[in-house]
Amino acid sequence: MNENKVVIQKKVIRNISLTAHPAGCARYVRDLIEQARSLANGSSPDKRYLTVTGLSLPKRVLVIGGSTGYGLASRVVAAFCGGADTIGVSFERLPTESKTATPGWYATHVFDQEARKTGSGSVSLYGDAFAMETKEKVAQAIKETCEGGQVDMVVYSIASPVRTDPQTGVTYQSVLKTVGEPYESLSLDIPLEKIISVTVPVATGEQVAETVKVMGGEDWMLWMEYLKEQGVLASGVKTIAYSYIGPEKTYPIYRHGSIGMAKRNLEETVPRIDGLLASLDGKAYVSVNKALVTRASFVIPVVPLYMALLYQIMQEKNLHEGCLEQAYRLFTEKLYGVDAVATDEMGRIRLDDWEMRRDVQEDVDAAWLLQKDGEKIAGGNVISCVQEYDRLHGFGYEDIDYNLPIDPREIL
Ligand code: NAD
Repeated sequence: MNENKVVIQKKVIRNISLTAHPAGCARYVRDLIEQARSLANGSSPDKRYLTVTGLSLPKRVLVIGGSTGYGLASRVVAAFCGGADTIGVSFERLPTESKTATPGWYATHVFDQEARKTGSGSVSLYGDAFAMETKEKVAQAIKETCEGGQVDMVVYSIASPVRTDPQTGVTYQSVLKTVGEPYESLSLDIPLEKIISVTVPVATGEQVAETVKVMGGEDWMLWMEYLKEQGVLASGVKTIAYSYIGPEKTYPIYRHGSIGMAKRNLEETVPRIDGLLASLDGKAYVSVNKALVTRASFVIPVVPLYMALLYQIMQEKNLHEGCLEQAYRLFTEKLYGVDAVATDEMGRIRLDDWEMRRDVQEDVDAAWLLQKDGEKIAGGNVISCVQEYDRLHGFGYEDIDYNLPIDPREIL
């Protein structure tokens, strides 16, 4: 046996997966690509979506945070539905002889392979998006890779617990806490599928300010300023960042919590970026997306219980979507569709429209009332949430032999 080969098993502690499987991650990305292609050409059995025929999708796209979750889905749609050249930036742990990389590292390598097979330009940079050095490398890559040395679209899809301010060198940490008073709620012990009670603690004023520093709009603005200064933004450029609102029951932990303060700040950055891009006839947007299982969302207190109930209800109503379908709808119906971009009264694109439908939320409320502390979850689709989490780490595919030793550095 090759001594560099090890058996890679799923290992999850406190809703964080410590491992990722190279073959499974490759499979995950190829499935996303296949799904995107079939939606685009109308061969998908899912008939809720329009094909891309006649649409002018962007041809040169930068995705900051493009290795997993919403960012990866956006990059897949850009490249495999719109035929765009793409540049991706992500922060991933590299593999060693004995330790796996984080899933985005495998996903990104496979994405590059597949995109290049189609003739699209595909360049991926691994580094800290908050650092000046990364912004410089990306501007250079745009100049070298994209036609005319410019991009038509910039997706900002970062979810990070920490940011070092490049100007001051000070490091800030984001927290997932409430603002004002602690919040007691039911939550879900995912492995046991059991309802538990949790008390989410209050963030200090300083912690709220730090969370805004990390997950607010400051870095998005810095990116756009730098890219404009470098002349790598095309005329008519669009930039988009992702936000979340959710139902009132999760407000204390999300919308009114420390992360919600950061999202509010992100949304308030839009008019400032619009001002910056005015001379290019460019436009910034925030899209409020659906609650979905990703590496970032699975660690938010209370939200996994909400997602388990929501998944079941949306699946029953044939309204459920994953990141890929959300990104597809964003590109084909919201941002580059035949109609003008529709926004709410705050100027936000609402991709959470199906999640927030009254009948969906009434059913979630009714399901929530059935939950009892200490008992197994009543209803909900925990299996679907766990399967999604497992698959984005390359686990849970029946036809992959997880007992077979594999080199963690292998790209499959
Ligand atoms: P994710 O964890 O799947 O993706 C986060 C991405 O950010 C990864 O590509 C990661 O490599 C990258 N990243 C993190 N720190 C970085 C750094 N320092 N430098 C470069 N890249 C870095 O998370 P996600 O859920 O897809 O979140 C993406 C965005 O979507 C976030 O802004 C999140 O708030 C928002 N959003 C998520 C949901 C949801 O339910 N998952 C809903 C609405 C909005």
